[in-house]
Amino acid sequence: MTTQAAQLGRGSISGLPPTQLLIDGKWRAAEAGAIAVINPSDGEAFTEIARGQKADIDAAVKAAHAAMEGAWGRLPAVERGRLLMKLALAVQDHQDELTRLEAMDTGKPIKQARADIVALARYFEYYGGAADKVHGETIPYLDGYAVMTFREPHGVTGHIIPWNYPAQILGRSLAAALAMGNAAVVKPAEDACLSVLKVGELALAVGFPPGAINIVTGLGEEAGAALSSHPGVDHISFTGSPETGALVQAAAARNNRPVTMELGGKSPQLVFADADIDAAVPFLANAIIQNAGQTCSAGSRLLVEAKIYDDVLSRVADRFTKLQVGSSDMDLDCGPVINKNQKARVEGFLSRAAKDGLKARAQGKIAPNTPPGGYYVAPTLVADVPPQHDLAQNEVFGPVLAATPFKSEEEALRIANGTEFGLVAGVWTRDGGRQMRLAKAIKTGQVFINNYGAGGGVELPFGGVRRSGFGREKGFEALYSFSIVKTVAVKHG
Ligand code: NAD
Repeated sequence: MTTQAAQLGRGSISGLPPTQLLIDGKWRAAEAGAIAVINPSDGEAFTEIARGQKADIDAAVKAAHAAMEGAWGRLPAVERGRLLMKLALAVQDHQDELTRLEAMDTGKPIKQARADIVALARYFEYYGGAADKVHGETIPYLDGYAVMTFREPHGVTGHIIPWNYPAQILGRSLAAALAMGNAAVVKPAEDACLSVLKVGELALAVGFPPGAINIVTGLGEEAGAALSSHPGVDHISFTGSPETGALVQAAAARNNRPVTMELGGKSPQLVFADADIDAAVPFLANAIIQNAGQTCSAGSRLLVEAKIYDDVLSRVADRFTKLQVGSSDMDLDCGPVINKNQKARVEGFLSRAAKDGLKARAQGKIAPNTPPGGYYVAPTLVADVPPQHDLAQNEVFGPVLAATPFKSEEEALRIANGTEFGLVAGVWTRDGGRQMRLAKAIKTGQVFINNYGAGGGVELPFGGVRRSGFGREKGFEALYSFSIVKTVAVKHG
């Protein structure tokens, strides 16, 4: 038994949430079987989750519709907000338990897991406060008419969640949907979903009516596919890979349903010679190290002005050399990646790069006493990566930073915009004109000037362009995405 399993009370399983399906306010077994839950820190299975199928999704969608027509659908916005606030408090009260669950399920260091749970509570708090603050308008129109718009929920929303930030991405998507009065069917990732189940348990405890939140765990090609193709689903919010996103879009298109797509990234960090390099260097490394590089908005490309390239690279290399990788409860700089396939994927990128003559410039270390069965990858800085190389074009989703020099602002912009992705970008320069030129010209959903990520505030609209997706989550933008405008024209004579 791992230390974390012991902390969770494995054996008695006291800290684990119910691992069945949450449908219509009740926990129930899946129609077919179970899936083992593996701790990426040691490769050991420590519990099982239900393997939901089409019939389970069908039951969940029916329950969500019933909730819309029943207690949940009739609840005034202010009461929805209060329930979300109560859920925020419940998440805060269970922070330690949720932190351990998230760390054990995903392998992320405890401090990262804790930050994710803080963010989870914040999503419920923020959207709880916003629930009664989004409303329609009146429109001046022809004589004899009164025209107004209502902002209404879509109805039943489907939420497909990835494994890299299960708690945070659940909060981001679910809280905004509930705030606008939608009911939800959540399909978390098969590789990590315990925190999602725990939130389901807490939501019932604070009084969410049956069917407002349904959770169907299972495989993507089974439960995920059933949810995205279900004609009873009125909107789908998907976070995951561009390839799966395309499948979900195609399935939803057959029912002509709207989707929000939060997909991958290959985000650049641009460093100019006039930047505050001391301030930049910690960000340049952290932007790729966080969550072992398994972050859609990871700063995976480092573009540095040629005249400071050697200096910046040696300072970033120095940080990489000192990085330590270990199990989540060792709480070091980096944890393992999520599973065996992800480890092989990251190592595949590095070995192909090495064959092309791109050697590791610096690597972190896997700490002594790291459990032997875990999926560990040393954080790696690769220098002089040509902008068109596989390592500079494709999402590794691991702790690998590809560095490339540039000679001018024009060249930096061309390289920054020169991938299929467009999620976020960081720009380091003291030149105010350049800050604004690049903020406008970079094709991404977020641009950070002299920082990277701005602390990830829930207030900041987030989403991509091109292969990084479309639609926006976070901030008030998410409330617009999770609602529709109805125009009502009254002819009063
Ligand atoms: P994934 O696409 O494999 O899985 C995401 C979710 O989709 C999981 O719940 C999975 O079960 C489900 N799924 C798989 N096949 C499906 C199908 N045929 N139909 C419906 N659902 C299906 O992605 P992942 O490996 O879990 O996550 C990594 C990817 O997610 C990376 O590309 C990363 O950049 C991206 N991501 C994006 C954001 C963002 O907000 N832009 C955030 C986190 C992760």
